[in-house]
Amino acid sequence: MTTTRHGGPATAPARETGPAAAVLVPAALAIAAAAALAATFDGSMSPWLSGAASAAVGVAGALLARPARAGAPASRGSAPDAAPDAAPDDAAGFDERLVELRAMRLRDRERGALLDALADALVLVDAHGETRFANRAAETVLGEGASAAGTRRAVDALPPAVLRAVGGVLAGGVGASRRIECHRLDDESAPLVVLVVAIAAGDDAFAAIVARDVRAEREADRMKSEFVAKASHELRTPLASIRAYAEMLADGEIEDGVQRAECLATIQRETVRLSGLVDRMLDIQRIESGLSRAESAPVDLAALAAECVAEQRAAAEARRIALVLPRAVQGAVVQGDAGLLKQVLVNLVSNGVKYTPEGGRVEVEVDVDGLARTAVVSVRDTGIGIPEHARSRLFTPFYRVENHERFAKGTGLGLNLCRNIVERMHGGQIGVDSTVGAGSRFWFTVPMEQAGRKAA
Ligand code: ADP
Repeated sequence: MTTTRHGGPATAPARETGPAAAVLVPAALAIAAAAALAATFDGSMSPWLSGAASAAVGVAGALLARPARAGAPASRGSAPDAAPDAAPDDAAGFDERLVELRAMRLRDRERGALLDALADALVLVDAHGETRFANRAAETVLGEGASAAGTRRAVDALPPAVLRAVGGVLAGGVGASRRIECHRLDDESAPLVVLVVAIAAGDDAFAAIVARDVRAEREADRMKSEFVAKASHELRTPLASIRAYAEMLADGEIEDGVQRAECLATIQRETVRLSGLVDRMLDIQRIESGLSRAESAPVDLAALAAECVAEQRAAAEARRIALVLPRAVQGAVVQGDAGLLKQVLVNLVSNGVKYTPEGGRVEVEVDVDGLARTAVVSVRDTGIGIPEHARSRLFTPFYRVENHERFAKGTGLGLNLCRNIVERMHGGQIGVDSTVGAGSRFWFTVPMEQAGRKAA
């Protein structure tokens, strides 16, 4: 490349423009120009080119704006014409600037990588809405092609209010900002929160548009509202009957002693149900919010299953259900919280007993998957089974399969609590296989305490 001289006007501000600048400024500007041209011609500058353009503009700007070194003669755009005896100084200056340039490039690459690592779309636009720079996430958040510099694809992906906000903040001066809740024009299911901030004012004014896809947050909000609505409904039912019976007793409406005792028993039962419901809701809330911490100690799942089966046998026998533990391998030891894992087992076994007609069978199995290095616990019943459409919703709060109410009362929170304990607190998995009318197999896995344990 030949060195180009810059014969600036005599009144130009003092700048150090040695050979490095003489070579690199045009080079940098050339890259910027190439990038701009590419954008102008094909209208789809690739993200790397737009990055290169901003890097180039940054490098050129930094070199041109660099103040003169203290003690150095103030050049007025005529450094290349300097006297030959300035050569050693120029050579030293050249090296120095090469080092600076490398450092600048590195910083630029780092900044580019940082912006590309953001999950939010970041787009710099001018007053007309033309993109100057866009990070990688612009493509995912705003749609394909939205990162093309020199085009209006980013603002065109958004409602007109965003472009109006760009004009508004630029009129307001540097730092002025607006927040807009909207969605992509081509995708109503993609809710966005957009922040528009004025970055530079004057003739070369531009603004930053930061767009965040808030689909996950909206879904979480929706689920929370649903939880609150269902919880209120579930709490209202026992409360209503407690209130009704208490009022009847208070008004002296029930004179018969036996009936009064029945009323009191109902109140007691509903109160127990109510507090069980509240306890479960609090357990789930504590786990989901991370307030609950699982203990971490070796837990022998075979021993835990035997304990649980022994405790539940009476309830099973009362319904003439055979509750058995035919297979429990030695060495199914996991690192976890025995109390919580027992809660899972109790819930699955009691569900098996609840939803199996008299004369049926509930089997608990404890096994080890040596390959996956997990312990596997299954609770198999010969019960009523679960229709396919219900299986994916079974572990969500308050879900109960329609018509199952006639078999047993419940809260619809047990399986959700199980999933939280297994998956969130122990890093395992929980699932179900079922055939309507034939029975179900609920299973859960927990990673093994140590690698390489084998089934005995
Ligand atoms: P609950 O049993 O208190 O209603 P769960 O969360 O434990 O709450 O279970 C949710 C729903 O899943 C139950 O209402 C029932 O419809 C269904 N279910 C759970 N276990 C079984 C099972 N073993 N067989 C058939 N249905 C079951």
